[in-house]
Amino acid sequence: MNSPSCSDSNFLTVEEALERIDQDLQPIGEDEQVPIRSALGRIVAKNVFTQLKIPPHDNSAMDGYAVRGADLPTEGKAQLTVIGTSLAGQLYSKTIQPGQCTRIFTGAVIPPGADTVIMQEHVERQDDVITIGTNHQKGQHVRAAGEDIATGQIILSIGKRLTPADIGLLASLGISEVKVKRRLRVAFFSTGDELCSVGEILQPGHIYDSNRYTLHGMLTQLNVDILDMGVIRDNPNDVENAFLAAANCNDVIITSGGVSVGDADYVTDTLRRLGQINFWKIAMKPGKPLTFGKIKNTVFFGLPGNPVSAMVTFYQFVQPALRRMMGQNKLIPLRFTVPCVSPLQKTPGRLEFQRGILDRDEHKNLIVRSTGKQGSGILSSMSQANCFIVLPKESGNVEAGSEVVVEPFERLF
Ligand code: AMP
Ligand code: MG
Repeated sequence: MNSPSCSDSNFLTVEEALERIDQDLQPIGEDEQVPIRSALGRIVAKNVFTQLKIPPHDNSAMDGYAVRGADLPTEGKAQLTVIGTSLAGQLYSKTIQPGQCTRIFTGAVIPPGADTVIMQEHVERQDDVITIGTNHQKGQHVRAAGEDIATGQIILSIGKRLTPADIGLLASLGISEVKVKRRLRVAFFSTGDELCSVGEILQPGHIYDSNRYTLHGMLTQLNVDILDMGVIRDNPNDVENAFLAAANCNDVIITSGGVSVGDADYVTDTLRRLGQINFWKIAMKPGKPLTFGKIKNTVFFGLPGNPVSAMVTFYQFVQPALRRMMGQNKLIPLRFTVPCVSPLQKTPGRLEFQRGILDRDEHKNLIVRSTGKQGSGILSSMSQANCFIVLPKESGNVEAGSEVVVEPFERLF
């Protein structure tokens, strides 16, 4: 059963809004070559192929003895003569003949003729002779050349966000630079006559601007170039000038505040004059109003002013959009079900993103509990939380002990 206001045909579902945004956006074309150490968190712009195989040669996975598989006893014991030592980084080039072996250390190249390693713990040694028993397999404890990566394989493909493992993989192949998408340029400002910035003296009736600081943090985690344009007052000239300045050299403009209907609504009005605009009411809570549009080629997002609404709409709409623009592959949202130990209040009609704390109960099972008050202005709830509790549109109140869907914050950046 939907509440009357949200079954209104003017309301979009979260999925519809995501789809409309997605259809309107394109990945940026430009890329740049960067040293691998600077490539962490950047998006691969050209497939990376290997010239080398990894590992480059058959090598030992253990400290022990390199032997010929044909010399392994099928019953009783066999004795082999140790003719030398294979050390990591040094080639032992003499061929192992029947009845011979070498001492070998982890990472050392398997000497010619040998194909098997016996762990040192499984050997009795007397001077230069070792005695081995049965229970060994030909080929054991050998890391085969190319078993990790074969020559000519694509190891990193377009659209991948580079992780520390990827940087290591590039290094293991001797690749020092990688082609990545250029960084997105994102400008943002807050709107509101009541706002002052950190470092200023708070005037009566004013509040400190927090959205610009949360936005700065969320954008930093996305690895984009940031232009903080400060607080813009609620008057049409200032808003228009800010838009025109931002649209000049940025891929994206994000604002917060000034988009509620009936507000000193200059953001929407100004955009309507300068570009294309959609003003959507979305059946979600918090964060009902969202403005999405374009000024020239610059994509525009107008977030609600309430601090929690601004963050939720950023994570649910702006972040996937920026990822698409920066050329990153789509992420599968990490959502799963856990028991909720707090009762939750909810009216049917809107998808809700309540703030939760994922934790372990006394049996070490994963559970979630509410952070408490869920008002859209209660920023401390976002600070205490480590996940969203995602309650479907049609859901009403949730009893303690019910299963709920959670979306951990970690995956949101
Ligand atoms: P608005 O969308 O401009 O009507 O703002 C809705 C609520 O969010 C009001 O209580 C504003 O004071 C508050 N708000 C707007 N912008 C910010 C901001 N940048 N930081 C903190 N609170 C804000
Ligand atoms: Mg305002």
